[in-house]
Amino acid sequence: MDRRNSVTYRDILQKIRLAFPQPVSDAIHDSYFVHSIMRALDQVDGLKTHLPMLGDIISGDFEKAREATLPDTMASIEDVTADLVSYLRGMTLFGHPRTQQNVIPPPTIPSLIGVLLASLYNPNLVWDEYSRLVALAEVEAVAMASQLIGYNPEQASGVFTFGGTATTLYGVKLGLEKACPGTLQNGAPEDAVVFVSDAGHYCATNIVGWLGIGTNNLITIPTTVENEIDLAQLEAEMRRAVESGKKIAAIIATLGTTDAFGLDDLAHIVALRDTLVDEYRLDYRPHIHADAAIGWAWSVFNDYDFENNPLGFRPRTIRALAGASRRIQHLSLADSIGIDFHKTGFTPYISSLVLFKNRADLELVQRQQEQMPYLYQFGDYRPGMYTLETSRAGTGPLAALANFRLFGEQGLRVILGHIVEMTQLLREHLEGREGTTVLNRENFGTVTLFRAYPVGVDTFSIKGHEFEDAAYRDSLLAHNEYNRQISEYVHSEAMEGRGVMISLTDCYRNTQYGEPIVALKSFILSPFVDETDVEMVVSKVLEARGKVSG
Ligand SMILES: *Cc1c(COP(=O)(O)O)cnc(C)c1O
Repeated sequence: MDRRNSVTYRDILQKIRLAFPQPVSDAIHDSYFVHSIMRALDQVDGLKTHLPMLGDIISGDFEKAREATLPDTMASIEDVTADLVSYLRGMTLFGHPRTQQNVIPPPTIPSLIGVLLASLYNPNLVWDEYSRLVALAEVEAVAMASQLIGYNPEQASGVFTFGGTATTLYGVKLGLEKACPGTLQNGAPEDAVVFVSDAGHYCATNIVGWLGIGTNNLITIPTTVENEIDLAQLEAEMRRAVESGKKIAAIIATLGTTDAFGLDDLAHIVALRDTLVDEYRLDYRPHIHADAAIGWAWSVFNDYDFENNPLGFRPRTIRALAGASRRIQHLSLADSIGIDFHKTGFTPYISSLVLFKNRADLELVQRQQEQMPYLYQFGDYRPGMYTLETSRAGTGPLAALANFRLFGEQGLRVILGHIVEMTQLLREHLEGREGTTVLNRENFGTVTLFRAYPVGVDTFSIKGHEFEDAAYRDSLLAHNEYNRQISEYVHSEAMEGRGVMISLTDCYRNTQYGEPIVALKSFILSPFVDETDVEMVVSKVLEARGKVSG
């Protein structure tokens, strides 16, 4: 083979090296790098219109996607960039004031820079030898979060992990080890149970499944109309479990349920746990994990002066903030807590933190140094001794720290206060119309579940009838369908730039006779939402009433 005309590997290697940030300062290459990022951002910007999404929504051809193959040769950075940008077409703009769909926040600029820096230099939090001061950033973020929710930072500890789901996984695993020592060696026993409310996140099912506890051993407790765990039923079930010789691996208290911001009464659950420990002389203390993936942020109001209200929130807002605070302020009673910065902390995915009240609990899942011969010859910070993960990115901690620094307590109060204020305003408008009714009016969060009814229906009484009275089953089901149609109309209007993207939940809760209640759902999480956007939700829904058949 004639090598003179062919490309040698060295030529290609040269191209490959140019595709990396340069290890040694090179101003020209640096500007090429920055320029490449700018081009990507420019191209994304080119997709923006007034609509709450990037360009047109294109439905993905998943059949074709499955046939994708690895290219034979290299592409240029420019081509790859354009290609990557094309995947953002149709993405919802979660920061857009006309997006009120779900608990997905827009990330701040500093948190994005945190993610960029951590990705650029690729610290690995398994060990400070591989992450240096980025490991310190994790420790600082843990300290700030501990102080915020009321843990004693001297005793507490925490690690960033792969999502809110993993935070609960950590809590339940520690609890399992406390209730049934030796599961790390022997596997899960058959007599361990976990409690969670029926409004808790479905990740509990995954976790007991994956931990080997088994989904049959997840005891789901019904919730009250406020979407809080029913304490009497929890007590009865806990007693039944203990009396029949079961071990309580964990009680998951949900502080801020995903769909309706229900807040379990943690203080009561802790007192109940302590009573049962004494009464039955248990030789372990059942672990209580607070799933505060959403609710944690409300801790900034723990010491807000609601009386004088220095930030000037409206009375309804103050009431909602104080209402949430009365539950959230007890977070520090939990043995472990899950926090999602990528929800109410305005960072990109994934930035989840699990906090442990007692650092010593982590010894329950610690590995021995001998099991990791290639790590930890020196250094001060070795979370890899007990984390489930081996490699852990610096992105989560830097993003969280960025927003703690950016907002401070006051900034977090303002952003949460504002979205609660907009939510309250929405409810006020919905309640002020005869065609709509709010289902979760006593709720303190930023999600509003509501239903529209055809002209002529008495919206004051229908809600109660349909909830309680099986004679209203047909009416309930017809109105479920009616609200689905309203949702479709509002959605298609929003896609055309007229109105707001809200969503629909197939089951806000079950009626007392067991049918699901379909509800329209507005989840406000963007700081850009303002009064006109809220009014738009109401006027679009009312307009839809005229378009769909009742
Ligand atoms: C979102 C959520 C989870 C799951 O968190 P991920 O970060 O999506 O894994 C768990 N619990 C609650 C209450 C949540 O809202």
